[in-house]
Amino acid sequence: MFESLSERLSGVFDKLTKQGALTEADVSTALREVRVALLDADVALPVARGFIDRVREKATGAAVVKSVTPGQMVVKIVHDELIATLAGDGQGQGLKVDSPPAPVLMVGLQGSGKTTTTAKLAKRLKERDGKRVLMASLDTRRPAAMEQLAVLGRQCGVDTLPIVPGQDAVAIAKRARQQAMLGGYDVVMLDTAGRMHVDDELMAEVAAVRDATQPHETLLVVDSLTGQDAVNVAQNFNERVGVSGVVLTRMDGDGRGGAALSMRAVTGRPIKFVGTGEKLDGLEEFHPERVAGRILGMGDIVSLVEKAQEQIEAAEAERMMKRFQKGRFDMNDLRSQLEQMQKLGGMQGVMGMMPGMGKMQKQLEESGFDDRVVKRQIAIIQSMTKKERANPDLMQASRKKRVAAGAGMEVQDVNRLLKMHRQMADMMKKMGKMGKKGLMRGGLG
Ligand code: GDP
Repeated sequence: MFESLSERLSGVFDKLTKQGALTEADVSTALREVRVALLDADVALPVARGFIDRVREKATGAAVVKSVTPGQMVVKIVHDELIATLAGDGQGQGLKVDSPPAPVLMVGLQGSGKTTTTAKLAKRLKERDGKRVLMASLDTRRPAAMEQLAVLGRQCGVDTLPIVPGQDAVAIAKRARQQAMLGGYDVVMLDTAGRMHVDDELMAEVAAVRDATQPHETLLVVDSLTGQDAVNVAQNFNERVGVSGVVLTRMDGDGRGGAALSMRAVTGRPIKFVGTGEKLDGLEEFHPERVAGRILGMGDIVSLVEKAQEQIEAAEAERMMKRFQKGRFDMNDLRSQLEQMQKLGGMQGVMGMMPGMGKMQKQLEESGFDDRVVKRQIAIIQSMTKKERANPDLMQASRKKRVAAGAGMEVQDVNRLLKMHRQMADMMKKMGKMGKKGLMRGGLG
């Protein structure tokens, strides 16, 4: 899937990454092409526009790390922005089906895959979460749809509400809830009627069912192959019925990916699941990183981004190496290490990155070192004078008192930092002596 979008974008980035240095004009040209590629993939115009603006802003402001080409930087920024656009604020994944019998309303157009998705979800809830699920079809105009749900229910071992001819949708929904209550079901899934197009009668019926059942989730099923239409449908349903999440079906097809990218931005609702086949196990949780990777041109670009990341790490490690080899590690070095930690996701991140640091990380963890402590330590270093930072041996009692007061901490906090610095400096000296090879082998002795 996403073939054309990914191919286009790969082409754009190929051009970028082959160059050593990028001018602002290059970035502009590349982003223009990205924009066209997004629009061709049926990404909604305002979404594409906002996307490009955010990437441009970040790309322009970004300091390009030495060992990374500007093209790789742009790739990374586009990649991160794709994830952000797909994921929104990251809220709303998973289903709220905790208080039984939790009603789940399934809505969408006819042919979107609504009935299949209802059965897929029921199967998933049953098998993964151990829930007892009851399904009911509210499609009173199409007896075949009701029968279809019953057949699917038998296939995956999920009960369906017995069909009583002549009842309207609201009456069936109420009966389903009652049955679910009496029968001790955890979840009751209501498969509403679909239409070929959004129309008032359909919306009124769905809204009446919603009011009668107070669903814990209202999931909109949309066909990702319908591109821009899918987004319009979602916007409509969300405004008129209110949806809590979206299921994008036929993501196994050769859709252009634009629907996924626009959905979150336009509706403000999370994509919760994606349909990936006709079979009942063709349902996956929505993973923004995966879809972003696929949109961007898959393995190629993803590994390119990873390589860029490694290069950033290698550059920093190299710089520190040079200082270690000279036997130097002062408070400024300690501070830059601490700041690096904050930037790169805390202790775990940075220590895992530095070659041969695993052992030290453990020691630090054992001594109760965590990211809150990092902030305080930086504050202490900041309240030292330039001279003291370059030569921590100057730190005698009166200086310690002054520095502690300046940072709003106790002398013993300063002592702890100085001790840590001494230990690190010792270790750095050792690492420097071992040279690059010993370090890369990870032998810390
Ligand atoms: P409804 O009218 O919205 O209830 O749609 P159905 O559930 O009857 O699905 C219509 C057709 O789409 C059926 O042939 C399904 O097998 C098929 N379908 C549903 N979801 C997917 C999917 O994720 N991938 C593929 N390839 N086919 C799907």
